[in-house]
Amino acid sequence: MDNTKNIVVVGGGIVGLSTAYYLQKAGHQVTVLDKSDISSGASFVNAGYLTPSHIISLAAPGMITKGLKYMFNSSSPFYMKPRLDREFIKWAWYFKKSSTKEKVAKAMPVIRDINLLSRELYEEIKASGDLGDFTIGDKGLLMVYQTEESRDHEMEVLVKAADLGLKGRELSMEELKAMEPEVDFNAKGAILWECDRHTTPPLIMKKMLDYLAQSGVAIHKNEEVVDVKASGNKITEVITNKAAYKPDEVIFAAGAWTGEISKKLKLNLPLQGGKGYRINMEAPTGITMPAILMERKIAVTPMEGFTRFAGTMEFSGNNHFIRKERVEAIAQGVEHFYKGLHISEEDKKNAQCGLRPVSPDGLPYIGRPSGFTNLVVATGHAMMGWSLGPATGKLVTELVSGEKSSMDIAPFYPERKF
Ligand SMILES: Cc1cc2nc3c(=O)[nH]c(=O)nc-3n(C[C@H](O)[C@H](O)[C@H](O)COP(=O)(O)OP(=O)(O)OC[C@H]3O[C@@H](n4cnc5c(N)ncnc54)[C@H](O)[C@@H]3O)c2cc1C
Repeated sequence: MDNTKNIVVVGGGIVGLSTAYYLQKAGHQVTVLDKSDISSGASFVNAGYLTPSHIISLAAPGMITKGLKYMFNSSSPFYMKPRLDREFIKWAWYFKKSSTKEKVAKAMPVIRDINLLSRELYEEIKASGDLGDFTIGDKGLLMVYQTEESRDHEMEVLVKAADLGLKGRELSMEELKAMEPEVDFNAKGAILWECDRHTTPPLIMKKMLDYLAQSGVAIHKNEEVVDVKASGNKITEVITNKAAYKPDEVIFAAGAWTGEISKKLKLNLPLQGGKGYRINMEAPTGITMPAILMERKIAVTPMEGFTRFAGTMEFSGNNHFIRKERVEAIAQGVEHFYKGLHISEEDKKNAQCGLRPVSPDGLPYIGRPSGFTNLVVATGHAMMGWSLGPATGKLVTELVSGEKSSMDIAPFYPERKF
């Protein structure tokens, strides 16, 4: 029996492209629709970490209090713009309900499993040669701190992670110096996550796009999905500003905008865009180790050809408006931790941002909503979307092809209760 399906993937970020990758490998006919030219946004500006160590979801106890504290300070690392938006208030309420010790503990092994699966798939994609040459840095990830409070916090995570089999350890200042000889840290110490990896997202995105186009995937840039029609429990039509499609299956992988598209089907998907910024620096920095500057919540990544500084989580709606004070806060944080490093005005001016699709409980939405037999939702990965792209693509493909799933996807059910 021929199981080949004609599939439309809405969204060409890492999640949509990884999904297209596995779908075409499984023999399906795939069309990717993206409203942008697929050269910017979250999948291009992120820090490139593959992060099994991020086992504590954003919706952790105390986060709402922090958000409220920072609400009127738009240069703080975690910022919620005060606004009377029903969707946002509902989402914030679910977020608060998810921020319990018990829920965070329950999510930890799930986050580990999908991260490890995805890390393995990145290695597999690299080994396949499909994308040509790219680097997966395996030096781990430093958590650099300036206060004992941050150290104690991370040591607690380390103990929990060790129980889950994830490797990390505390470094002495001598070890830190030996690891980063060119860098003069203004810090008290660091913890090294040995289980983490790092990559160069814009490079991988470009290579993935090239590979997919050569493999027969139709990639339609600058084409926006404006409506989705259904009859009974089947999607019948996907309508864009340019054409109409009648696919066998539809995948919603439109990142932070997936909530809006889902509304066309009266499907409720609580989701907020969590804006983050990046500054690229091409001048030599001497930085060879990826590092999170804990008190400032800034991610530093030595990428192929440049160093990237990324950070901030800003809930201010789905827009790409750049708040200069937030870019400045990232630059100042970096200069505060790396003695002698200076980020130029030009580099700050060229800063870009992207929207993380943030679900209220920090787990992605991967699965078929109950009302539709030919729709799969794949979004909500928040701070881990780059890490989890390949695993999501693989899980979606298994679902669409009716194959055994690589892991239990029940915790990712899109209509779960918060
Ligand atoms: C500063 C920053 C640092 C980060 N660092 C990391 C990290 O180190 N590690 C990690 O794992 N994750 C990280 N993330 C998170 C990660 O980047 C995101 O979770 C991930 O890129 C989301 O991918 P996506 O494909 O779901 O969404 P996107 O990349 O946003 O792609 C969605 C696409 O859908 C398209 N679209 C939307 N609406 C429509 C429509 N109606 N019609 C057609 N197309 C549409 C958009 O144009 C877009 O191209 C970071 C994010 C930021 C912002």
